[in-house]
Amino acid sequence: VMASMAHLQEEKLRLQEELLGLQEKLAARENDELSHSLQLQGQVETLKAKLLEQAQEISRLRSELGGTDTEKHRDLLVAENERLRQEMKACEGELRELRRQQQVPCQDCAHLQENAELQERVSQLQREAEEMRAKLSELELEVQQKTNRLAEVELRLKDSLAERAEEEERLSRRLRDSQETIASLKSQPQQIKYIIKTVEVESAKAKQALCESQSRNQYLQEQVGMQRQVLKEMEQQLQSSQKTAAQLRAQIVMYEAELERAHGQMLEEMQAMEEEKNRAIEEAFSRAQVEMKAVHENLAGVRTNLLTLQPALRTLTHDYNSLKRQVRDFPLLLQETLRSARAEIGQAIEEVHNTNRELLRKYRRELQLRKKCHNELVRLKGNIRVFGRVRPITKEDGDGPEAANAVTFDADDDAVLHLLHKGKQVSFELDKVFPPQASQEEVFQEVQALVTSCIDGYNVCIFAYGQTGAGKTYTMEGTAANPGINQRALQLLFSEVRSKAADWDYTISVSAAEIYNESLRDLLGKEPQEKLEIKLCPDGSGQLYVPGLTEFRVQSVEDINKVFEFGHVNRVTECTNLNEHSSRSHALLIVTVRGLDRSTGLRTTGKLNLVDLAGSERVGRSGAEGSRLREAQHINKSLSALGDVIYALRSRQGHVPFRNSKLTYLLQDSLSGDSKTLMMVQVSPAEKNTSETLCSLKFAERVRSVELGPVSRKAELAAWPSQEQLEVPKGPPSSGTAAPSGRGHTSSSPGQLSGRSASIRRKLQTSG
Ligand code: ADP
Ligand code: MG
Repeated sequence: VMASMAHLQEEKLRLQEELLGLQEKLAARENDELSHSLQLQGQVETLKAKLLEQAQEISRLRSELGGTDTEKHRDLLVAENERLRQEMKACEGELRELRRQQQVPCQDCAHLQENAELQERVSQLQREAEEMRAKLSELELEVQQKTNRLAEVELRLKDSLAERAEEEERLSRRLRDSQETIASLKSQPQQIKYIIKTVEVESAKAKQALCESQSRNQYLQEQVGMQRQVLKEMEQQLQSSQKTAAQLRAQIVMYEAELERAHGQMLEEMQAMEEEKNRAIEEAFSRAQVEMKAVHENLAGVRTNLLTLQPALRTLTHDYNSLKRQVRDFPLLLQETLRSARAEIGQAIEEVHNTNRELLRKYRRELQLRKKCHNELVRLKGNIRVFGRVRPITKEDGDGPEAANAVTFDADDDAVLHLLHKGKQVSFELDKVFPPQASQEEVFQEVQALVTSCIDGYNVCIFAYGQTGAGKTYTMEGTAANPGINQRALQLLFSEVRSKAADWDYTISVSAAEIYNESLRDLLGKEPQEKLEIKLCPDGSGQLYVPGLTEFRVQSVEDINKVFEFGHVNRVTECTNLNEHSSRSHALLIVTVRGLDRSTGLRTTGKLNLVDLAGSERVGRSGAEGSRLREAQHINKSLSALGDVIYALRSRQGHVPFRNSKLTYLLQDSLSGDSKTLMMVQVSPAEKNTSETLCSLKFAERVRSVELGPVSRKAELAAWPSQEQLEVPKGPPSSGTAAPSGRGHTSSSPGQLSGRSASIRRKLQTSG
């Protein structure tokens, strides 16, 4: 309420201020009006002054016409004229006197001279007189004119004087009228017309003046009207502002009343509140008293409760103390328990550890044993193994009886193969026979173990033997979609090397060579045409090496593919007929795996030789001539030499004729010692190839069936047939060539036992 009161007072003050402002404005308006009326009076005054000016102008005009001065001038001229006339008379008289004097002759010259002078003077005077006379006449004329003009002017002056008097009178009258009119303008505007009418009658000039006055009057009237309007507006404004002021005043009064009322109300409210407060205080007080009483009662109850609780507290304290004691003892107890548990655990761990160590030791021993057994088994299986692979009948075989299948297999024994030759069935037993449907993958599975032993540092040779078109290249190289042993072996090597990478550092490098007509060429070299020599290592280790043979380090399948491609290109560019050429030459891929055991520093070197041999088919003795014959001879020689070497190795002869051919000489260290050799004999099943197939199989069986042991070695030495001799079938050579042993404890012959198992049993016996 106070705030609203203050607000109202503020408003009041503001309204008063506003009122003052409005009053000031009103005063200013009144002043304006006053000045306006003054201005109007001033205008009237100026009008009067103009009237006066007009009167003056009239008088000036009248004086300009003036007559008195001219009259005087004329009089003066007349007088002058008279005076000049008299002077002239006097001059004439003088002149006459002089003439008379001249007529009397003078005796002395002084008189004469004086006379002349005088005469001259006379003439001069006469001339002067003449001039004077002309001037006089002129003046007379002028005087005449002036007199005329004067008369005229006098006449006009009289008229104008009369007019002026009239005008003057009229104007004064008019002025008076005007004044009256102006005075009575406000009250009686209608009179103006009347006055105008009265004035109108007076004269033309007066009419004009009246007109002017009328227009001026009208203008003034308009002005007055305008002023009046302004005045009215002002009055209205004044009225309205007065009204507003009155309103405001009323409002103020109202507000004041309101204020008073509010104040009263507030006071009332305050009073009421005061009362309320008092009442509330009283109430609260009484309530508090009641509560206090209740609290007191409660307190009394609690006190009694407390008394009863005390014994319980005592027992609790007791319990607590005992618990505390227990807690204090607990860490010690815990420590002890922990110690014992730890000891137990330690003991258990120790036991487990010991057991573990023991187990590890045993495991190692077993591992060694297993390796030994494995080696023994491999050794027993023979370091030289012979597989047979029969390719499927292809389109090239044509159709008809020529392309009929001549090869059958034993369903139970995968090492036996039957060939129908000239109506007779001949059976052969090898280490394993792959039927036509055997995939590259299956073939490789059997070869895998050989390849991996290369990583352990063994030298491995894999030969593909057989007539041209029997599938040697297919087995070794394969097709892009179905790669052969070459690529698979390298892939396997890579993965093996990767799995051993934790302990071993391996490098794999590849060389490719070709032996044609007993000369060695580097297929990866820059100059493939160059013939390479095989030399003995100068370090006296007895090892062989080929100076200049290119070696590429490979790390991925991509690298191998590049190397193969390169070798292929070299081989292709160097010969005109690749098929022909490839069937007449041996292709070698030599993979060297060098390993370093990082922990022991042990170094190993393993060599994997993958050899795609030249076609083993016999060139007819009759037809072949020249280079063809030479080729055939070379091939025969090298294949025979290979057979000799393998035979010598397998029968463990003291002398192995490695030097008989470039091929065996090059592969010497990969064929001897701990090396492992696989002969893959490829045959065609077609009817037309049966005689070559027979030869190949005989070669295979002969290589395989060589008996082991010191006695058989000697015995076999003479029995090995040359490649030439293979052409003449001699019947089953194995049974025949298995010579009787010199010492008693050799095996029974292979003919009596199923070849493979018998030979294994024999080996077991010999190795104890
Ligand atoms: P080689 O190298 O002994 O002269 P190839 O390897 O060139 O004989 O094989 C001659 C043909 O027979 C090729 O077209 C080859 O694809 C095909 N061939 C050989 N062996 C198989 C086989 N196991 N499966 C399918 N086709 C084969
Ligand atoms: Mg081939």
